[in-house]
Amino acid sequence: MSKNTNAQPPNKLTGIKLKEAPKTSAGIKAIRSALTHIKDEVGVGKGIQLLANLNQKNGFDCPGCAWPDPDDKRAFLAEYCENGAKAVAEEATKNKVTPLFFATHSVKELSELSDYEIGKSGRITHPMYLAEDATHYQEISWNDAFQMIGNELNGLNSPDEAIFYTSGRTSNEAAFLYQLFVRQFGTNNLPDCSNMCHESSGVALSETLGIGKGSVTLEDFNHADLVIVIGQNPGTNHPRMLSALEKNKKKGGKIITINPLPEVGLMNFKDPQNPLQWINGEDLTDLFLQVKINGDVALLKIILKLMKEQEEASPNAVFNHQFIKEKTSGLENLLKDLDNYTIDELLPQTGLELSEIQKATALIINNENIIFCWAMGLTQHKNAVDNIREVVNILLLKGSIGKKGAGTCPVRGHSNVQGDRTMGIWERPKASFLDNLENEFHFKAPRKHGYDVVDAIEAMHLKKAKVFFGMGGNFISATPDTEFTAEALRNCYLTVQVSTKLNRSHLVTGKKALILPCLGRTEKDIQVSGEQFVSVENSMGVVHQSKGTLKPCSEHLLSEPAIVAGVANATMNNSTTNWTELIANYDLIRDKIEATIPDFEDYNKRVRIKGGFYLPNNARENDFTPTKTGKANFSINTPSKIKLKKSQFMMMTIRTHDQYNTTIYGLDDRYRGILNERRVVLMNKEDMNSLNLEKLDLVDLTSHFNNEKREAKGFLVVPYDIPKHCTATYFPEANVLVPIKNKADISNTPASKTVIITIKKR
Ligand code: SF4
Repeated sequence: MSKNTNAQPPNKLTGIKLKEAPKTSAGIKAIRSALTHIKDEVGVGKGIQLLANLNQKNGFDCPGCAWPDPDDKRAFLAEYCENGAKAVAEEATKNKVTPLFFATHSVKELSELSDYEIGKSGRITHPMYLAEDATHYQEISWNDAFQMIGNELNGLNSPDEAIFYTSGRTSNEAAFLYQLFVRQFGTNNLPDCSNMCHESSGVALSETLGIGKGSVTLEDFNHADLVIVIGQNPGTNHPRMLSALEKNKKKGGKIITINPLPEVGLMNFKDPQNPLQWINGEDLTDLFLQVKINGDVALLKIILKLMKEQEEASPNAVFNHQFIKEKTSGLENLLKDLDNYTIDELLPQTGLELSEIQKATALIINNENIIFCWAMGLTQHKNAVDNIREVVNILLLKGSIGKKGAGTCPVRGHSNVQGDRTMGIWERPKASFLDNLENEFHFKAPRKHGYDVVDAIEAMHLKKAKVFFGMGGNFISATPDTEFTAEALRNCYLTVQVSTKLNRSHLVTGKKALILPCLGRTEKDIQVSGEQFVSVENSMGVVHQSKGTLKPCSEHLLSEPAIVAGVANATMNNSTTNWTELIANYDLIRDKIEATIPDFEDYNKRVRIKGGFYLPNNARENDFTPTKTGKANFSINTPSKIKLKKSQFMMMTIRTHDQYNTTIYGLDDRYRGILNERRVVLMNKEDMNSLNLEKLDLVDLTSHFNNEKREAKGFLVVPYDIPKHCTATYFPEANVLVPIKNKADISNTPASKTVIITIKKR
């Protein structure tokens, strides 16, 4: 029973050290950090074997982000980054969480640890059960666990009282089986981590270009004249992207960076693979626009207005009229809408000088092949969909899409989040997909759309949903409004977590809870027909195989597909699917994927091609026929309407350099000079003066939303290079401040980058 466990990281400080933020990224320090993690977690011998197979064509895919590997030769020594090495070190750690561990540590006690300490406990070795009103988990057999889930699910009044969450690490094969089981059970309640990250990108790109995925390939970075990186911090979240940017620079490309923070990874990069660069590194950004939080539409609209002015002054000098005529729709409305705004009214929202924006506009006007890259800095706002559509407006005016070196690049943060969506993990499935499932598996698929993440939390809070099943992830720490979400989970009769490592979601549970420990991406997966491989899809739409090489850390683990089969067999006596047969040989699962999902012809043959295969991408092929108009759509977008009152600040939650999603590798944020502390609030010096705050003063943060207040206590003030009235904090520590209803229009993504706060000195 977790009534009294901590849903939030403990409010205790860890002894901060502040250093000047470095001027360069990666280099020897990244190598040292990666090897230290490997040595400490795994040991040198096994660690070297592990790294030798990471992102290699015969090896396993990095369980970190979804940045692609080169199509051709992979780097012999290291086809991975510092954070990729940390990700596999965490998974292959020698630390184990055994039944004895659980017998000697109550859930209450464990919940008083920090997320870092909980995670360092290690890999879970046995299925575990937390009985109602129990204080400690106890070991349970797989069969009893599956039966318990089956009984609970079948005891519900409706399948819609169950929630089936997916985290983006789940392989294609597991994701396909999982959605099939959930739909045969009778619901579309399939929220996933994409709902919290790139859902806004999917909505905007599907509407404007006819596909919810990015259009560029890795190779395109070698042909771009201009790369614009907006609302993204690749140095920490997609580190190998820096190599692609460096190559682009070497080929004469230009880079514009748009971000409230001067993220060092985008300023100077020392390629760890090139010792000659370990001294000076390569400067990346040519123009840095330090925009205010949520000032993106205002900034992009000024650029559009300046492009329009230039085009009117010298016709055909800016707009690609041939592309616009042949491929687009809606230009007139866009141009009319631009006249509804003045640059003077838009400029204050950006926090920038007009001259800076004019420089950016000149770079856009004078270059043909432009790539826009973005991440959460654009997708987690109330007007997030507007942000991304405005980006597309600029590309369409230039005709900079559907050709080499040009297009859209939403960089996915989880290794297979895009693959999971392709496999049907979506609460709003297409009717054609459900038709295919019905034809192939002879069952009636549910047609009513299900809950996304925010809706799922509200449904559990209202006791409309009573069972939560998490395929991977750390739901309580990844989601907004921590105490509200905790109450929602505690309302459930049963919560189930399929996991590799211990995390806080095992400590904030329903009345009963189960932990089902699964194989990691690095581990061998042996089934009846022998050793198996799985497949994943990266940010550029390349589907490729991943095969674990390590002996599993425990003989009591099951693969994700085997766990789905176990639950399905225990829940559905008369299923039309032979689950046990499908998991005996994953080729059979891929045959079913081929039979029900377009573009997977000869799946088993093509996935065995070293490096895998590209899924078709209409936008990449300059074909926009899937949109409502059959053309690429210009769109009308709205700048932020948020007005801060006096003494209010805009807060965005961010990651440290020692963090991957909710996994905390360490307590340092090396790239920002903040060491050994996570309870910090980054503030502009003038704002500190306005509140008589000194460096390292202890403060309490309060968020304000619809007359509601939420508090997070005990944060240290850190003076930082951030625009006035803007602040930054780390998640999950600050997630308690993000209101559940503070979300993006249309995509329903939690607006974790637009939270209004006040700051009170202790
Ligand atoms: S860039 Fe992303 S996918 Fe590549 S090694 Fe690093 S974390 Fe892993």
